[in-house]
Amino acid sequence: MAASRGVTVFRLPPLPTIGEVIKLFKLKAVKQLSQNFLLDLRLTDKIARSAGNLKDAHVCEVGPGPGGITRAILNAGVAELLLVEKDPRFIPGLQMLSEAAPGKVRVVHGDILTYKLGQAFPNHLIKNWEDDPPDIHIIGNLPFSVSTPLIIKWLENISKRDGPFRYGRTQLTLTFQKEVGEVDVTVVHFTPLVQPKIEQPFKLVEKVVQSVFQFRRKYCHHGIRILFPEATRLEKAEQMLMLADVDPTLRPTQLSMFHFKNLCDVYRKMCDEDPSLFAYNYREELREKRRKKSNFKRTSDDDLI
Ligand code: SAM
Repeated sequence: MAASRGVTVFRLPPLPTIGEVIKLFKLKAVKQLSQNFLLDLRLTDKIARSAGNLKDAHVCEVGPGPGGITRAILNAGVAELLLVEKDPRFIPGLQMLSEAAPGKVRVVHGDILTYKLGQAFPNHLIKNWEDDPPDIHIIGNLPFSVSTPLIIKWLENISKRDGPFRYGRTQLTLTFQKEVGEVDVTVVHFTPLVQPKIEQPFKLVEKVVQSVFQFRRKYCHHGIRILFPEATRLEKAEQMLMLADVDPTLRPTQLSMFHFKNLCDVYRKMCDEDPSLFAYNYREELREKRRKKSNFKRTSDDDLI
């Protein structure tokens, strides 16, 4: 601890640098696992600062690796830091960091996709959804292959107010890298809204958005069509776009939140009118068609023998 202007500031004791930790524990980044490590202190500090004021906060860092961002988070004066790391090679280095900040760090060897973050923090931190966010943050620099399913899982958790959002509007600070080894990282800070922009069930919103982006370079009507069985596809897609007041020749990336809201609201009405519609799955229909086609081919081949 160090005192500055009467305020007690936490400082980690002198430790080997992250570069030295990597050498000490022979922590080679595994390219197949999209691992790459942030060694630049300005960058790791910037990521921790992007989370906001972490003084006395309860933080979970996902995928800490050799611990560069971890040190920046600890130096921000957090009350508690939970580290969830999947790769066992990093655990000894993280334990060393935990000993340097006694009583503050919990190291978990686990997978963040299955780890129960909804039970990770004390109940007294729980806030009402409408209140200011709780003093809980999730921070991480993860590969795209993990952060994409994770974000989708967390968006569903937000809609149900469970998992890490059982505590209220828990904030997320995540970095995104286009390519492994790319130095420029984008830091994105999320705070869940009190009122969602689209007031429909998560699975419905997910289905509409996924279908629209199925053909991301084409006009959006291509994606809308696959929400409907083949027999009524063209007519229903046209009806949906018209009722939602969406120009069918816009590309998916040109659609605004307002467009998506209208599309989801209209699709919801159509599903209410035809209860079998929501269960319709374009991919399954395609698979079934292919299966029938290959069965037919096999039968005809057999007939030939
Ligand atoms: N945070 C470190 C940094 O910035 O230097 C390491 C970043 S590296 C891109 C991603 C880290 O996430 C690795 O340590 C990897 O083992 C870990 N990881 C990958 N998938 C994970 C998962 N499902 N759960 C927990 N950790 C994971």
